[in-house]
Amino acid sequence: MDRRTFVSSTACGAAGLVTGSLVHNSISLAVDAVVDRHRVTQLHIAPFRFDVTPPLGHGCCGNWIKPIEGYDDAHEAIGFVLMGAGKPIVVCSVDWTGILNQAHVQWREAIADAADTTPDRVAVQVVHQHNAPLACLEAAKLVSSQGDLPHVLNIDYFHRCLDAARTAVKQAMFQGERVTHIGSGQAKVVDVAANRRILGPNGKVRASRSSSCTDPELRALPDGLIDPFLKTIAFYAGERKLAACHYYACHPMSYYGDGRASSDYCGLARKRRQGEEAGCTHIYFSGCGGNIGAGKYNDGSPKMRPILASRIYDAIVAADKAISLQPISSVSWSTCDFLPMVDSRWDEEKLLAQIHDKKQAVVNRSRPAYTVAWIRRVNQRIPVVLSSLHINDVSIMHLPGEPFVEFQLQAQQNHPARFVATAGYGDGGPWYLPTAEAYPQLGYEVSVAWSAPAADQELRNGMQQLLSIG
Ligand SMILES: [Zn+2]
Repeated sequence: MDRRTFVSSTACGAAGLVTGSLVHNSISLAVDAVVDRHRVTQLHIAPFRFDVTPPLGHGCCGNWIKPIEGYDDAHEAIGFVLMGAGKPIVVCSVDWTGILNQAHVQWREAIADAADTTPDRVAVQVVHQHNAPLACLEAAKLVSSQGDLPHVLNIDYFHRCLDAARTAVKQAMFQGERVTHIGSGQAKVVDVAANRRILGPNGKVRASRSSSCTDPELRALPDGLIDPFLKTIAFYAGERKLAACHYYACHPMSYYGDGRASSDYCGLARKRRQGEEAGCTHIYFSGCGGNIGAGKYNDGSPKMRPILASRIYDAIVAADKAISLQPISSVSWSTCDFLPMVDSRWDEEKLLAQIHDKKQAVVNRSRPAYTVAWIRRVNQRIPVVLSSLHINDVSIMHLPGEPFVEFQLQAQQNHPARFVATAGYGDGGPWYLPTAEAYPQLGYEVSVAWSAPAADQELRNGMQQLLSIG
């Protein structure tokens, strides 16, 4: 095996060649991407899964909606360990609303510990269902310290999930299977995604179609900017499919706020496919869906959940049929730090006053705790880690927060020779990541974006670095 570690040559920093372990500084902000590249002779994959269904009474979506009162179907965390390309690489997708800041660091540390690797080689993304936990340890502490607010995160349950992660990853690694081929394919999803933001004649957002919408005038408008493709990347032993990762950019909720835990329509599509292919682990990732929802095609009624699930399932099957296989010749893993400035709208003291104000509604006292957590994190200079797995000419990019779809479209356009799949919803610390041009348009997404508009260019720079060295 050719075990070499490169520091990339970029406009932001000097080129260099480093031997030995990956260089990654978790506290100072690096502007260079770091890439660990291997020619591969023996690659193994160890898929894993474990249950992360929240207990009864658990807060959902940061106390925005009703807590868990019952169960429709289980929340899972599903991923894989890739062994044989330097230290193990781990990618995991979780049926939660979000995993933010220190909670995200702890997830990656727990998995890294179990896989005997480093946290910068672990990507943890969420699917972003809403009847689910929005896990931020700092926000949880701030909310519980008020004394009269319901908890946003059950800490015992959070640690039980980390224990389950360690156990599942360790057990899986005993049963790793040889991987010889990578497959990639895509298919259009019919009638699910549409752009949520409807602009008025003055260039400002006049309405949102959100995840469900009953206004016929808004539903009649065109899709707007979306990425219509569901992309699938699968790992094979010869022609035997071992794991398949599916990527699609759209908020994954058909309806929510009823207190019933569910993996919702994207999770149900995944589970249906899983039921048909027991020998292959199916993993679903939400792409850059910050400004994308199902509202054009979804009135939010219960009957729409299985219909939307079928549409995603159909695309999963069609993408599978379109897969082309190639023998794996190279694997690399690149990372880049990302820590945008906090937007000047956000003031920690004012937010704390709102959290303390007992006259405010529970949600208006709970959600600002997530903003405070991000402000404090930025002040501590603890960056988010962007990462990308490159196998031959296939790249999987792991982005944080809720990025707008423009980011993944640009990544594809800038690298037409590569098959680029993007997972959004990694470290949820920054919440929404709109494009710079979306800020003056206002709208819901901008109102819950903690970063300044310059975050747009910083994210594009990071993506460019991740992908230009794949
Ligand atoms: Zn969202």
